[in-house]
Amino acid sequence: MPSVVIAGGGLVGAVNACFFGQIGWKVTVYESRPDPRGRCLEHGKGINLAFGCRAIGALELIGLKERVIEMGVPIREKLRYQGEKEGVFEKVQTLNEGDYILSINRHRLSQLLVNEAVKYNNVKFLFNCKATKFDINSETLLVETPDGLVTVDGDLILACDGAHSSIRRSLLKHDRFNFSQKYCDIGYIDLSVKIQDTCELKLGIHNSWRTDGVILVALVNRDQKLTGQITAHISSETPFLFLVSMFANFSVFEKYFSTPEDSVEFFKTRIPVVYGIMGEKHILDTFSKNKPQAIISVQCSQHSFFDKLILMGDAAHAMLPFQGQGANCGFEDCVVLQEILEDIGEDLLANAVKEYSRVRTNDTNKMNQMEWDAYVQVSTYSCSEVYAIFLNHELENHKTQWMHTMKTLLKKKLEFFFPSTFALATFSRTPYSEISKKRQIVLKGAQLLIIATVFALFSIFAFFFLNELSLKSPSSEYNL
Ligand SMILES: Cc1cc2nc3c(=O)[nH]c(=O)nc-3n(C[C@H](O)[C@H](O)[C@H](O)COP(=O)(O)OP(=O)(O)OC[C@H]3O[C@@H](n4cnc5c(N)ncnc54)[C@H](O)[C@@H]3O)c2cc1C
Repeated sequence: MPSVVIAGGGLVGAVNACFFGQIGWKVTVYESRPDPRGRCLEHGKGINLAFGCRAIGALELIGLKERVIEMGVPIREKLRYQGEKEGVFEKVQTLNEGDYILSINRHRLSQLLVNEAVKYNNVKFLFNCKATKFDINSETLLVETPDGLVTVDGDLILACDGAHSSIRRSLLKHDRFNFSQKYCDIGYIDLSVKIQDTCELKLGIHNSWRTDGVILVALVNRDQKLTGQITAHISSETPFLFLVSMFANFSVFEKYFSTPEDSVEFFKTRIPVVYGIMGEKHILDTFSKNKPQAIISVQCSQHSFFDKLILMGDAAHAMLPFQGQGANCGFEDCVVLQEILEDIGEDLLANAVKEYSRVRTNDTNKMNQMEWDAYVQVSTYSCSEVYAIFLNHELENHKTQWMHTMKTLLKKKLEFFFPSTFALATFSRTPYSEISKKRQIVLKGAQLLIIATVFALFSIFAFFFLNELSLKSPSSEYNL
């Protein structure tokens, strides 16, 4: 039986463990943190995940689709508040009737995945074990366990140890391996709170508030009771989880949230609904304990090494979260690897490892770039609103009513011919590189359209102007 060693038992590591468990490989997962099944809900990076068909498709293949859907909340509508204005309802951009985003609790999902993986006798999770590096000379992994440093090896080694991957760091001297990382200026903080009473906001609606450079995203989830194994226990008495993530430029955090008291003041005066739900004590507690976290984007020039090691998930392609593709993409990595292994065969593992990098590197880098572009456009959009509308259908900031109406009309027209990047990435498995190509065509087309429109208007104006001139000119009268 071939063996696979997985460094990192987070989302992507655990999904990989399920896949390899299913096909009978000997699987050992080394996870630096304690067992998530023994921990209560933790605050961390974006407490909820938005899943589209890439992630759900992967979960279906490991037999978890139904349970995850049961645990999650389908999101079909957005309610957006801009400053003091009334909230505006909008449908989530989809490809097909019936599509929706599944909002799923990250921690619960992590517990579910570990539980599922360890059902296979051939899968072992070792917690509190940190993979410190990949030794390039011996082509083995060094792991710090509670009993000391050990060297481990397998037919295949998967580095699923997240955005700050130790394994990737140990590869930096590998010939012709290029790696880049960028932090964006926007940070985030989780403000989620458990509430017993009914909530003023509706279940299953993506609420967002934009004010003074702050974007607040809030969802109401039913909580799931946890009794050893995960069971989705949903009843009207179940407490609600009010999930709030706040995004802002670091300078905005410094301006309005430098002390916990300032933060309370911000919510009280600018977003009173959220203030009312969270309560002063929770805001004070959160801002005295938690600081805004930075968001990193990582790109690699190759994902596989030495015919046996593969970087996967955030270790290979951590991306900004504005289109919600990080975990979706990471789960799709696992599916792609299984598809390649099935096509090429386990006997030719080295070929499969090479093929994975060939297929996946360009694709994931393209999505990474699209996430970055979306962020740049949102933060520098003031250049030209009309241009911005063409550039990215998802842009939110419209200052005037006419701009909003025009944007909605253009969006509908554009989406009819060219589904948005978001819709294609979320609701189809169209390769990211193809989506990127389509997007470039739309951008070029839009630019040409703008140039042609300006040219046509100028020609019409020039024609009438010259005509008028020639009619009025005395010489023309004499000529007649
Ligand atoms: C604010 C925010 C919101 C997001 N929202 C979405 C969303 O809505 N939808 C979406 O699809 N994606 C979203 N993402 C992206 C998503 O969180 C990541 O893409 C996903 O968590 C990647 O999974 P992973 O397993 O590769 O890495 P991680 O989830 O980071 O897991 C890595 C695991 O490896 C362990 N580890 C780390 N180092 C070592 C080591 N040296 N040895 C052993 N173990 C190690 C860690 O403890 C962890 O368990 C969001 C990200 C952020 C920051």
